Amino acid sequence: MRHRIAVIGGGPGGLTFARVLHHHGHPVTVLERDPAPDARPPGGTLDLHEGMGQLALEKAGLLAEFEELSRPEGQAMRILDTNGTVLRDWKPRPDERANPEIDRGQLRDLLLGPLDIQWGRRVTEVVPQAHAGVLVHFADGRQETFDLVIGADGAWSRVRPAISSATPHYTGVTRVETSLDDIDTRHPDLARLIGDGSVAVYGVNRNLVAQRNSGGHVKVGAQFRAPLDWHTDLDLDLALADADAMRSSLLALFDGWAAPVLDLLRHGTAFVHRPLYVLPVSHTWAHVPGVTLLGDAAHLMPPLGAGANLAMLEGAELAESIAAASGPGDLDEAVRAFEEQMWERAGRWAKITTAGLERLVSPDPTQALAVFDEVQPS
Ligand SMILES: Cc1cc2nc3c(=O)[nH]c(=O)nc-3n(C[C@H](O)[C@H](O)[C@H](O)COP(=O)(O)OP(=O)(O)OC[C@H]3O[C@@H](n4cnc5c(N)ncnc54)[C@H](O)[C@@H]3O)c2cc1C
Repeated sequence: MRHRIAVIGGGPGGLTFARVLHHHGHPVTVLERDPAPDARPPGGTLDLHEGMGQLALEKAGLLAEFEELSRPEGQAMRILDTNGTVLRDWKPRPDERANPEIDRGQLRDLLLGPLDIQWGRRVTEVVPQAHAGVLVHFADGRQETFDLVIGADGAWSRVRPAISSATPHYTGVTRVETSLDDIDTRHPDLARLIGDGSVAVYGVNRNLVAQRNSGGHVKVGAQFRAPLDWHTDLDLDLALADADAMRSSLLALFDGWAAPVLDLLRHGTAFVHRPLYVLPVSHTWAHVPGVTLLGDAAHLMPPLGAGANLAMLEGAELAESIAAASGPGDLDEAVRAFEEQMWERAGRWAKITTAGLERLVSPDPTQALAVFDEVQPS
C-alpha cells in the first residue's frame, strides 16, 4: 500500500529519511524552503560517528561513497591554553574511522543523489485533520494533504507546533563564526597551528575553535557566555553586519590571548552571529497520528557533534520502519515505536551535550581539557 508521505526540510535528517525510503522503493515528497541547493552557504564540516551517521549512510547504501569523500585525518585535535602552549595534540591512526569529517555541502549532495526535491516550498503550518490526513500550508498560499508529515525542519520547526508547545530557549552561550580561505597559501602559520583537523583554545567562560574543511577552507567559532543582547548591551551597540566592528569587539573579548590564536579572528572577513538555543532536555509529546518530528525539530541540543548524527540515524530508522509497514494501522504503529526509541536516545544525548557545554564554556578552563580526556580515544 502506498502512503502519501511528506518530509518537511532537506537537512541531514530529512534527506537521509528520504534517501533510505527511496532505497526501499517507496515514494516520498521532500519539501524544502530554500529555493535551490546552493541558495545559502552549506555551513562547516560534520563528523559522522560509526554507529550513528555512518550507520545511517550504510542503511541508505551510501557508506562506500562517504568513505571516498570523508576526511579521517580531520579527526585530529589540538588543544592550547590561552598563551598558545600546546596541552594536547591528538592524531588519528591512519585506519581510524570512528568520526571522519565531511563538508556539509558534500554530504548534502551525496544524499540528494536521485531524490526529487521540491525547492522553494516554505511550510507555514501543519494541521492534522479530524478524520484522516494532515493539511500542510505553504507560504505561497497553497495547501496539500498527506497521510504522514515528518517535521525535519530544524530548530525553528513550523511542524512542531502541531504536536508540541515546546520552543527553543537561549543557553547563555553565543557563537560568532568567521572563516578563512586558502589557509595553506595565504596563512601558512595558521595552517600549521590548525593541522589536519581542529585547534581549540579554552579560556574563562569562552573558547575559540578553528576547524579545517576541505579545499583549504577553515571555519572559526568564538563561543562565550553573554546575555542574548550582548551586542547592544555594555555600551557596544554593535551592528552585527558590520564586520570591522564585530572583529574589534571579538578581539576585545579575547584580549590577552596569544597573538597567533587571535590571528584566527583578525583574518576573518565576515562574521555570523549564532546564539545557541536548545529545546528542553528529554522533549516528548503526546502522539498525534499523521505527524512526527526528527532531528533538531525534535531535540535541538548544544552543538557538540551529536545533532546531525542523531538526525540521520533517526531518518534512516524511521524510513526502514515505514518501508516495513503495510496498512495504515501499521504505519501509525511504526511512527509510535520510532518516537519511543528516538526520545530515549535523544534524551541521553541532550543530557550529555548540555553538561558538555557547561564544561566547555566554563569559569574553569581545566574542565574543557577534562572533557577532551574523557571522550578522546587514546
Ligand atoms: C556550529 C555547529 C557545528 C555542528 N557540528 C556538528 C557535528 O560535527 N556533528 C553533528 O552531528 N552535529 C553537528 N551540529 C548539529 C547539526 O548541525 C544539526 O543537529 C543538524 O544539522 C540537524 O539536522 P536536521 O536535518 O534536523 O535540521 P537542519 O540541518 O536544521 O535542516 C533543516 C532543513 O529544513 C529546512 N526548513 C526549515 N524551515 C522550513 C520550512 N518552514 N519549510 C520547509 N523547509 C524548512 C531548512 O532550510 C533546512 O534545510 C553542529 C551545529 C552547529 C551549529
